[in-house]
Amino acid sequence: MAKLSIRDVDLKGKVVFMRVDFNVPLNDQGEITDDTRIRASLPSIQLALDRGAKLVLASHLGRPKGKVNPKMCLQPAAERLAVLLNKPVRFATDCIGPEADKHVAELKNGDLLLLENLRFHKEEEANDSEFAKQLAGKAEVYINDAFGSAHRAHASTEGITHYIPMKAAGLLMEKELEYLGKALENPLHPYVAIVGGAKVSDKIKFLQNLMGFADTILIGGAMAYTFLKAQGVEVGLSRIEADKLDLAKELLAQAQQKKVNFRLPQDHVVADKLDASAVAETVASASIPADRMGLDIGPKTRAEYADAVKKAKTIIWNGPMGVFEIDQFAQGTLEVGRAVAESGAVSVVGGGDSVAAVHKAGIEDKITHISTGGGASLEFLSGLKLPGVEALPEKK
Ligand code: AMP
Repeated sequence: MAKLSIRDVDLKGKVVFMRVDFNVPLNDQGEITDDTRIRASLPSIQLALDRGAKLVLASHLGRPKGKVNPKMCLQPAAERLAVLLNKPVRFATDCIGPEADKHVAELKNGDLLLLENLRFHKEEEANDSEFAKQLAGKAEVYINDAFGSAHRAHASTEGITHYIPMKAAGLLMEKELEYLGKALENPLHPYVAIVGGAKVSDKIKFLQNLMGFADTILIGGAMAYTFLKAQGVEVGLSRIEADKLDLAKELLAQAQQKKVNFRLPQDHVVADKLDASAVAETVASASIPADRMGLDIGPKTRAEYADAVKKAKTIIWNGPMGVFEIDQFAQGTLEVGRAVAESGAVSVVGGGDSVAAVHKAGIEDKITHISTGGGASLEFLSGLKLPGVEALPEKK
Protein backbone atom coordinates (compact mmCIF):
# COMPACT_ATOMS: atom_id res chain seq x y z
CA MET A 1 0.00 0.00 0.00
CA ALA A 2 1.41 3.40 -0.97
CA LYS A 3 1.34 6.36 1.36
CA LEU A 4 -0.76 9.44 0.65
CA SER A 5 1.44 11.73 -1.46
CA ILE A 6 2.02 15.47 -1.46
CA ARG A 7 0.56 15.30 -4.99
CA ASP A 8 -2.78 14.13 -3.57
CA VAL A 9 -3.22 17.04 -1.14
CA ASP A 10 -4.68 20.52 -1.65
CA LEU A 11 -1.90 22.95 -0.70
CA LYS A 12 -3.20 26.26 -2.05
CA GLY A 13 -3.06 29.02 0.54
CA LYS A 14 -2.34 26.47 3.29
CA VAL A 15 0.45 26.67 5.83
CA VAL A 16 2.44 23.54 4.98
CA PHE A 17 5.04 22.22 7.45
CA MET A 18 7.56 20.16 5.52
CA ARG A 19 10.18 18.08 7.34
CA VAL A 20 13.22 17.95 5.09
CA ASP A 21 16.71 16.55 5.53
CA PHE A 22 19.13 19.47 5.20
CA ASN A 23 21.74 17.71 7.33
CA VAL A 24 24.51 18.91 5.01
CA PRO A 25 28.27 18.86 5.68
CA LEU A 26 29.73 22.27 6.58
CA ASN A 27 33.42 23.26 6.61
CA ASP A 28 35.11 25.34 9.34
CA GLN A 29 33.96 28.54 7.65
CA GLY A 30 30.35 27.34 7.87
CA GLU A 31 30.14 26.78 4.10
CA ILE A 32 28.18 23.88 2.66
CA THR A 33 30.60 21.41 1.05
CA ASP A 34 27.94 19.14 -0.48
CA ASP A 35 24.35 20.26 -1.12
CA THR A 36 23.06 16.89 -2.40
CA ARG A 37 20.51 16.64 0.41
CA ILE A 38 19.10 20.10 -0.27
CA ARG A 39 18.83 19.30 -3.98
CA ALA A 40 17.11 15.99 -3.16
CA SER A 41 14.19 17.89 -1.58
CA LEU A 42 13.83 20.44 -4.39
CA PRO A 43 11.08 18.52 -6.27
CA SER A 44 8.79 18.54 -3.20
CA ILE A 45 9.62 22.15 -2.35
CA GLN A 46 9.02 23.31 -5.92
CA LEU A 47 5.75 21.40 -6.13
CA ALA A 48 4.49 22.97 -2.89
CA LEU A 49 5.46 26.47 -4.07
CA ASP A 50 3.93 25.95 -7.51
CA ARG A 51 0.69 24.91 -5.84
CA GLY A 52 0.59 28.08 -3.75
CA ALA A 53 1.53 26.72 -0.34
CA LYS A 54 2.83 28.91 2.47
CA LEU A 55 5.79 26.65 3.01
CA VAL A 56 7.57 26.14 6.33
CA LEU A 57 10.66 23.93 6.11
CA ALA A 58 12.28 22.27 9.12
CA SER A 59 15.37 20.10 9.47
CA HIS A 60 18.06 19.00 11.86
CA LEU A 61 21.77 19.56 11.23
CA GLY A 62 24.46 17.59 13.04
CA ARG A 63 24.24 16.63 16.70
CA PRO A 64 23.97 19.81 18.78
CA LYS A 65 22.52 17.72 21.65
CA GLY A 66 19.70 20.08 22.55
CA LYS A 67 21.82 23.26 22.74
CA VAL A 68 22.22 26.20 20.38
CA ASN A 69 25.48 25.72 18.47
CA PRO A 70 26.37 28.36 15.85
CA LYS A 71 28.45 25.76 13.96
CA MET A 72 25.22 23.85 13.22
CA CYS A 73 23.12 26.81 12.16
CA LEU A 74 20.87 26.24 9.15
CA GLN A 75 21.20 29.79 7.75
CA PRO A 76 23.74 28.63 5.07
CA ALA A 77 21.15 26.09 3.92
CA ALA A 78 18.55 28.87 3.57
CA GLU A 79 21.03 30.87 1.48
CA ARG A 80 21.88 27.89 -0.73
CA LEU A 81 18.20 27.07 -1.17
CA ALA A 82 17.52 30.68 -2.24
CA VAL A 83 20.18 30.30 -4.96
CA LEU A 84 18.84 26.92 -6.10
CA LEU A 85 15.24 28.17 -6.26
CA ASN A 86 16.18 31.64 -7.45
CA LYS A 87 13.82 33.21 -4.93
CA PRO A 88 14.07 34.63 -1.40
CA VAL A 89 13.98 32.18 1.50
CA ARG A 90 13.06 33.56 4.91
CA PHE A 91 14.99 32.24 7.89
CA ALA A 92 13.74 32.08 11.50
CA THR A 93 16.50 31.97 14.13
CA ASP A 94 14.49 29.56 16.28
CA CYS A 95 12.20 26.76 15.12
CA ILE A 96 9.47 27.73 17.64
CA GLY A 97 8.47 30.98 19.37
CA PRO A 98 7.28 34.48 18.42
CA GLU A 99 9.83 35.17 15.65
CA ALA A 100 8.96 31.96 13.79
CA ASP A 101 5.23 32.64 14.30
CA LYS A 102 5.63 36.15 12.88
CA HIS A 103 7.40 34.81 9.78
CA VAL A 104 4.68 32.21 9.27
CA ALA A 105 1.96 34.86 9.60
CA GLU A 106 3.67 37.00 6.96
CA LEU A 107 4.01 34.20 4.38
CA LYS A 108 2.06 34.71 1.17
CA ASN A 109 1.04 31.91 -1.16
CA GLY A 110 4.19 30.52 -2.81
CA ASP A 111 6.54 31.98 -0.12
CA LEU A 112 8.85 29.88 1.98
CA LEU A 113 10.59 29.93 5.33
CA LEU A 114 13.31 27.72 6.79
CA LEU A 115 13.30 27.22 10.54
CA GLU A 116 16.52 26.99 12.58
CA ASN A 117 17.94 23.57 13.52
CA LEU A 118 15.27 21.50 15.30
CA ARG A 119 17.88 19.79 17.46
CA PHE A 120 18.79 23.06 19.21
CA HIS A 121 15.90 21.94 21.44
CA LYS A 122 16.39 18.68 23.35
CA GLU A 123 12.63 18.18 23.09
CA GLU A 124 13.02 17.33 19.38
CA GLU A 125 14.83 14.03 19.93
CA ALA A 126 12.83 13.36 23.12
CA ASN A 127 9.66 13.57 20.99
CA ASP A 128 8.16 15.96 23.55
CA SER A 129 4.48 16.45 22.85
CA GLU A 130 4.34 20.12 23.95
CA PHE A 131 7.26 20.94 21.64
CA ALA A 132 5.61 18.96 18.82
CA LYS A 133 2.42 20.99 19.31
CA GLN A 134 4.39 24.25 19.16
CA LEU A 135 6.16 23.10 16.00
CA ALA A 136 2.83 22.23 14.41
CA GLY A 137 1.75 25.80 15.19
CA LYS A 138 -0.73 26.95 12.59
CA ALA A 139 0.23 24.36 9.98
CA GLU A 140 -2.70 22.79 8.12
CA VAL A 141 -0.71 20.20 6.18
CA TYR A 142 2.30 18.12 7.24
CA ILE A 143 4.65 16.72 4.63
CA ASN A 144 7.51 14.40 5.52
CA ASP A 145 10.25 14.37 2.88
CA ALA A 146 13.06 13.42 5.28
CA PHE A 147 13.39 9.69 4.65
CA GLY A 148 16.85 9.74 6.28
CA SER A 149 15.26 10.68 9.63
CA ALA A 150 12.15 8.49 9.37
CA HIS A 151 13.62 5.71 11.52
CA ARG A 152 13.60 8.05 14.51
CA ALA A 153 10.44 8.89 16.46
CA HIS A 154 11.27 12.56 16.99
CA ALA A 155 8.93 15.52 17.49
CA SER A 156 9.27 16.63 13.85
CA THR A 157 8.90 13.14 12.37
CA GLU A 158 6.31 11.56 14.66
CA GLY A 159 5.02 13.76 17.50
CA ILE A 160 3.91 16.58 15.22
CA THR A 161 1.71 14.28 13.15
CA HIS A 162 -0.73 14.09 16.08
CA TYR A 163 -1.40 17.84 15.80
CA ILE A 164 -1.83 18.33 12.05
CA PRO A 165 -4.85 16.58 10.53
CA MET A 166 -3.65 16.39 6.93
CA LYS A 167 -0.40 14.47 6.40
CA ALA A 168 1.39 13.08 3.39
CA ALA A 169 4.73 11.85 2.06
CA GLY A 170 6.98 14.15 0.05
CA LEU A 171 8.25 13.10 -3.37
CA LEU A 172 11.66 11.97 -2.08
CA MET A 173 10.04 9.95 0.71
CA GLU A 174 7.65 8.47 -1.83
CA LYS A 175 10.50 7.47 -4.16
CA GLU A 176 12.50 5.87 -1.34
CA LEU A 177 9.49 3.85 -0.16
CA GLU A 178 8.68 2.77 -3.71
CA TYR A 179 12.16 1.48 -4.59
CA LEU A 180 13.06 0.04 -1.20
CA GLY A 181 9.60 -1.54 -1.08
CA LYS A 182 10.16 -3.12 -4.49
CA ALA A 183 13.40 -4.68 -3.21
CA LEU A 184 11.36 -6.47 -0.54
CA GLU A 185 8.06 -7.26 -2.27
CA ASN A 186 7.93 -9.72 -5.16
CA PRO A 187 11.51 -9.11 -6.34
CA LEU A 188 12.92 -10.86 -9.39
CA HIS A 189 15.33 -13.75 -8.79
CA PRO A 190 18.23 -14.53 -8.64
CA TYR A 191 18.37 -12.12 -5.72
CA VAL A 192 21.90 -11.23 -4.60
CA ALA A 193 22.69 -9.25 -1.47
CA ILE A 194 26.13 -7.71 -1.02
CA VAL A 195 26.77 -6.99 2.63
CA GLY A 196 29.97 -5.46 3.94
CA GLY A 197 31.21 -2.80 6.29
CA ALA A 198 32.62 -2.73 9.74
CA LYS A 199 30.45 -4.80 12.05
CA VAL A 200 28.20 -7.85 12.04
CA SER A 201 26.37 -6.40 15.04
CA ASP A 202 25.07 -3.44 12.98
CA LYS A 203 23.54 -5.74 10.40
CA ILE A 204 22.10 -8.72 12.30
CA LYS A 205 18.44 -7.95 11.55
CA PHE A 206 19.30 -7.05 7.96
CA LEU A 207 21.06 -10.39 7.42
CA GLN A 208 18.23 -12.31 9.09
CA ASN A 209 15.63 -10.57 6.97
CA LEU A 210 17.66 -11.13 3.79
CA MET A 211 17.72 -14.85 4.50
CA GLY A 212 13.96 -14.84 3.98
CA PHE A 213 14.25 -13.97 0.28
CA ALA A 214 17.85 -13.62 -0.98
CA ASP A 215 19.32 -16.51 -2.99
CA THR A 216 22.91 -15.44 -2.42
CA ILE A 217 24.54 -13.27 0.24
CA LEU A 218 28.07 -12.07 -0.49
CA ILE A 219 29.92 -10.99 2.63
CA GLY A 220 32.87 -8.61 2.62
CA GLY A 221 34.42 -5.88 4.77
CA ALA A 222 35.63 -6.37 8.33
CA MET A 223 32.46 -8.26 9.22
CA ALA A 224 33.68 -11.15 7.04
CA TYR A 225 36.49 -11.82 9.53
CA THR A 226 34.10 -12.34 12.42
CA PHE A 227 32.32 -14.98 10.31
CA LEU A 228 35.60 -16.61 9.23
CA LYS A 229 36.89 -16.67 12.80
CA ALA A 230 33.58 -18.24 13.90
CA GLN A 231 34.29 -21.02 11.38
CA GLY A 232 37.69 -21.57 12.97
CA VAL A 233 39.67 -19.85 10.19
CA GLU A 234 42.82 -17.94 11.24
CA VAL A 235 42.24 -14.19 10.66
CA GLY A 236 45.48 -12.74 12.07
CA LEU A 237 45.17 -9.11 13.16
CA SER A 238 41.93 -8.50 11.23
CA ARG A 239 39.26 -6.43 12.91
CA ILE A 240 36.70 -8.79 14.47
CA GLU A 241 33.95 -8.59 17.07
CA ALA A 242 35.12 -11.15 19.62
CA ASP A 243 31.80 -11.09 21.48
CA LYS A 244 29.81 -11.80 18.32
CA LEU A 245 31.36 -15.15 17.34
CA ASP A 246 28.39 -17.17 18.64
CA LEU A 247 26.02 -14.86 16.83
CA ALA A 248 28.04 -15.28 13.63
CA LYS A 249 27.81 -19.07 14.05
CA GLU A 250 24.04 -18.81 14.48
CA LEU A 251 23.71 -16.69 11.34
CA LEU A 252 25.82 -19.20 9.38
CA ALA A 253 23.59 -22.04 10.64
CA GLN A 254 20.44 -20.08 9.68
CA ALA A 255 21.80 -19.52 6.18
CA GLN A 256 22.47 -23.23 5.81
CA GLN A 257 19.03 -24.17 7.08
CA LYS A 258 17.37 -21.69 4.70
CA LYS A 259 19.55 -22.90 1.82
CA VAL A 260 20.92 -19.43 1.20
CA ASN A 261 24.24 -19.35 -0.66
CA PHE A 262 26.12 -17.45 2.08
CA ARG A 263 29.60 -16.65 0.77
CA LEU A 264 32.68 -15.52 2.66
CA PRO A 265 35.94 -14.29 1.11
CA GLN A 266 38.33 -17.06 0.15
CA ASP A 267 41.35 -14.82 -0.43
CA HIS A 268 42.32 -11.37 0.81
CA VAL A 269 44.34 -8.21 0.41
CA VAL A 270 46.24 -7.79 3.68
CA ALA A 271 48.75 -5.46 5.33
CA ASP A 272 50.45 -5.15 8.70
CA LYS A 273 48.45 -2.04 9.58
CA LEU A 274 45.39 -0.06 8.54
CA ASP A 275 47.15 2.87 6.97
CA ALA A 276 47.51 4.52 3.56
CA SER A 277 51.28 3.95 3.78
CA ALA A 278 50.88 0.20 4.42
CA VAL A 279 52.17 -2.21 1.77
CA ALA A 280 49.29 -4.31 0.43
CA GLU A 281 49.87 -8.01 -0.24
CA THR A 282 47.56 -10.72 -1.52
CA VAL A 283 46.95 -13.86 0.52
CA ALA A 284 45.69 -16.70 -1.69
CA SER A 285 43.84 -18.59 1.07
CA ALA A 286 40.92 -17.95 3.42
CA SER A 287 43.31 -17.89 6.40
CA ILE A 288 45.46 -14.84 7.15
CA PRO A 289 48.98 -14.89 8.67
CA ALA A 290 49.13 -13.99 12.37
CA ASP A 291 50.94 -10.67 11.74
CA ARG A 292 48.62 -9.42 8.98
CA MET A 293 45.10 -7.97 8.82
CA GLY A 294 42.53 -8.45 6.07
CA LEU A 295 41.64 -5.11 4.49
CA ASP A 296 39.95 -6.10 1.23
CA ILE A 297 38.64 -9.16 -0.59
CA GLY A 298 41.26 -10.84 -2.83
CA PRO A 299 41.23 -11.29 -6.63
CA LYS A 300 39.65 -14.76 -6.60
CA THR A 301 36.82 -13.60 -4.31
CA ARG A 302 36.31 -10.48 -6.44
CA ALA A 303 35.91 -12.58 -9.57
CA GLU A 304 33.51 -15.00 -7.83
CA TYR A 305 31.42 -12.21 -6.33
CA ALA A 306 31.34 -10.31 -9.64
CA ASP A 307 30.18 -13.47 -11.38
CA ALA A 308 27.31 -13.97 -8.89
CA VAL A 309 26.35 -10.30 -9.20
CA LYS A 310 26.26 -10.40 -13.00
CA LYS A 311 23.75 -13.30 -12.93
CA ALA A 312 21.41 -11.42 -10.56
CA LYS A 313 18.04 -9.88 -11.42
CA THR A 314 17.77 -8.04 -8.11
CA ILE A 315 20.73 -6.69 -6.11
CA ILE A 316 20.75 -5.03 -2.76
CA TRP A 317 24.06 -3.57 -1.55
CA ASN A 318 24.96 -2.28 1.87
CA GLY A 319 28.54 -1.82 3.05
CA PRO A 320 31.96 -1.79 1.33
CA MET A 321 34.01 -4.94 0.68
CA GLY A 322 37.13 -3.42 2.26
CA VAL A 323 38.73 -0.21 3.43
CA PHE A 324 37.73 1.47 0.17
CA GLU A 325 38.77 4.93 1.41
CA ILE A 326 42.42 3.84 0.89
CA ASP A 327 43.22 3.09 -2.76
CA GLN A 328 45.19 -0.11 -2.27
CA PHE A 329 42.23 -1.63 -0.37
CA ALA A 330 39.47 -0.29 -2.65
CA GLN A 331 39.71 -2.78 -5.50
CA GLY A 332 37.20 -5.28 -4.10
CA THR A 333 34.52 -2.64 -3.54
CA LEU A 334 35.12 -1.04 -6.94
CA GLU A 335 35.06 -4.34 -8.87
CA VAL A 336 31.90 -5.52 -7.15
CA GLY A 337 30.42 -2.06 -7.86
CA ARG A 338 31.30 -2.32 -11.55
CA ALA A 339 29.71 -5.77 -11.69
CA VAL A 340 26.52 -4.30 -10.21
CA ALA A 341 26.62 -1.58 -12.88
CA GLU A 342 27.03 -4.14 -15.67
CA SER A 343 24.42 -6.59 -14.34
CA GLY A 344 21.34 -4.86 -15.75
CA ALA A 345 19.57 -5.97 -12.55
CA VAL A 346 17.28 -3.85 -10.38
CA SER A 347 19.86 -2.50 -7.93
CA VAL A 348 19.36 -0.72 -4.64
CA VAL A 349 22.27 0.76 -2.71
CA GLY A 350 21.92 2.05 0.84
CA GLY A 351 24.26 3.15 3.61
CA GLY A 352 26.54 6.19 3.55
CA ASP A 353 29.73 4.25 2.79
CA SER A 354 28.28 2.18 -0.04
CA VAL A 355 26.90 5.36 -1.58
CA ALA A 356 30.37 6.95 -1.32
CA ALA A 357 31.79 3.80 -2.97
CA VAL A 358 29.26 4.08 -5.81
CA HIS A 359 30.47 7.65 -6.43
CA LYS A 360 34.11 6.55 -6.22
CA ALA A 361 33.40 3.87 -8.85
CA GLY A 362 31.53 6.44 -10.97
CA ILE A 363 28.56 4.12 -11.49
CA GLU A 364 25.74 6.24 -10.02
CA ASP A 365 23.88 6.35 -13.36
CA LYS A 366 23.77 2.56 -13.53
CA ILE A 367 22.15 2.04 -10.13
CA THR A 368 18.35 1.80 -10.03
CA HIS A 369 18.07 3.49 -6.64
CA ILE A 370 20.64 5.07 -4.35
CA SER A 371 19.02 5.63 -0.98
CA THR A 372 19.51 8.99 0.73
CA GLY A 373 18.95 7.43 4.15
CA GLY A 374 21.73 5.26 5.59
CA GLY A 375 20.26 4.12 8.90
CA ALA A 376 16.68 4.46 7.66
CA SER A 377 17.25 2.30 4.58
CA LEU A 378 19.03 -0.35 6.64
CA GLU A 379 16.11 -0.48 9.10
CA PHE A 380 13.55 -0.55 6.28
CA LEU A 381 15.40 -3.39 4.52
CA SER A 382 15.67 -5.19 7.86
CA GLY A 383 11.88 -5.40 7.83
CA LEU A 384 11.48 -2.90 10.67
CA LYS A 385 8.71 -0.31 10.81
CA LEU A 386 9.93 3.30 10.60
CA PRO A 387 8.01 5.61 12.98
CA GLY A 388 8.14 8.53 10.54
CA VAL A 389 6.62 6.36 7.81
CA GLU A 390 4.07 4.68 10.06
CA ALA A 391 2.79 8.14 11.06
CA LEU A 392 1.76 8.89 7.47
CA PRO A 393 -1.63 7.70 6.19
CA GLU A 394 -2.10 5.23 3.34
CA LYS A 395 -3.50 6.33 0.02
CA LYS A 396 -7.24 5.67 -0.04
P1 AMP B 1 29.75 0.44 7.71
O1 AMP B 1 29.54 1.83 8.18
O2 AMP B 1 29.37 -0.60 8.71
O3 AMP B 1 29.18 0.18 6.34
O4 AMP B 1 31.34 0.27 7.61
C1 AMP B 1 32.10 0.97 6.69
C2 AMP B 1 33.51 1.06 7.16
O5 AMP B 1 34.06 -0.23 7.30
C3 AMP B 1 34.38 1.80 6.18
O6 AMP B 1 34.90 2.95 6.81
C4 AMP B 1 35.48 0.82 5.86
O7 AMP B 1 36.76 1.41 5.79
C5 AMP B 1 35.43 -0.14 7.01
N1 AMP B 1 35.98 -1.44 6.63
C6 AMP B 1 35.65 -2.19 5.57
N2 AMP B 1 36.43 -3.30 5.51
C7 AMP B 1 37.27 -3.25 6.54
C8 AMP B 1 38.29 -4.11 7.01
N3 AMP B 1 38.59 -5.22 6.37
N4 AMP B 1 38.96 -3.74 8.12
C9 AMP B 1 38.65 -2.59 8.77
N5 AMP B 1 37.69 -1.75 8.39
C10 AMP B 1 37.00 -2.07 7.28
